[in-house]
Amino acid sequence: MTRDEKRTFSLEYFPPRSKQGELSLAAARQELSKLKPAFASVTFGAGGSTQDGTNQTVKSIIDEDGIDAAPHISCISTNRETLAKMLEDYRELGVKRLVALRGDIPSGYGMAEHNELRYANELVEFIRQKTGDYYTIEVAAYPEFHPQASSAKADLLNFKRKVEAGADSAITQYFYNPEAYFRFIEDCQSMGLDIPIIPGIMPITNYKQLARFSDACGAEIPRWIRKRLESYGDDLESIRQFGLDVVTRLCEKLLDGGAPGLHFYSMNRSEPVRTIWNNLNLSD
Ligand code: FAD
Repeated sequence: MTRDEKRTFSLEYFPPRSKQGELSLAAARQELSKLKPAFASVTFGAGGSTQDGTNQTVKSIIDEDGIDAAPHISCISTNRETLAKMLEDYRELGVKRLVALRGDIPSGYGMAEHNELRYANELVEFIRQKTGDYYTIEVAAYPEFHPQASSAKADLLNFKRKVEAGADSAITQYFYNPEAYFRFIEDCQSMGLDIPIIPGIMPITNYKQLARFSDACGAEIPRWIRKRLESYGDDLESIRQFGLDVVTRLCEKLLDGGAPGLHFYSMNRSEPVRTIWNNLNLSD
């Protein structure tokens, strides 16, 4: 497999929250920018990160790494005025792409209390109203369905709303069942949605952390993967080798099946992404 220029290969970072975190991110950026990803996205809010943290990281990527940065922007716990200012600030920084999300509802809050814009489709509409076609807008997609969706069908219709509001492309929640992705693509095509839907890829390096994330976001770890990871216990090297093998094969299946690219959740670590990237021969 070689890198096909029509496909988009990108990655995600999160803003650091400690001195050690800053060092890890700097080391990851130094290595991963050499892969020349199409862009690096930067999370917002997840795990308590602040707007400042996202801004700082975005600015460093643009100024120092020479690649496009795409901040995640969420409409939860904020208002139109703040969002409008954010859109202008990002434009001034040279940002051209955004990942537009609702964001996770802080625990203990009801739906009515926390926002003027309630769902990501309303945020996409707002960004288009304020800035026209200036930004390329990515939205989230859920091949295994969002945990709060009332049904699979409702979730698909909600995804359709985001596309109709003006999303240019989508990045999926991570998954390890390629069939779930291909079925989701078929459903989107049958609804007339033809934007690129890029699989989100989560390398496997730490079983306990992965199990915790997956429970929270509704991603399924197939039983055979779970059982094997459990059996390795504290043998990190075996987990690493197995994880790289499983995720490389997943990526191969997705690309062979026509996926329009891959978006790697780097978790601010370079080694797993770089190894999978090289296994797939994605370097120019
Ligand atoms: P929406 O598309 O608004 O959907 C949320 C839920 O509401 C779904 O169940 C949907 O079916 C339902 N829904 C949507 N519209 C309607 C409607 N009109 N009426 C009724 N129900 C509706 N979280 C962070 O906090 N920070 C991040 O940086 C971050 N980055 C992410 C990046 C990616 C690629 C992905 C896949 C997720 C990310 N998340 C992040 C997690 C995300 O914020 C959560 O999954 C959140 O709960 C939903 O966000 P959304 O944009 O998908 O919401």
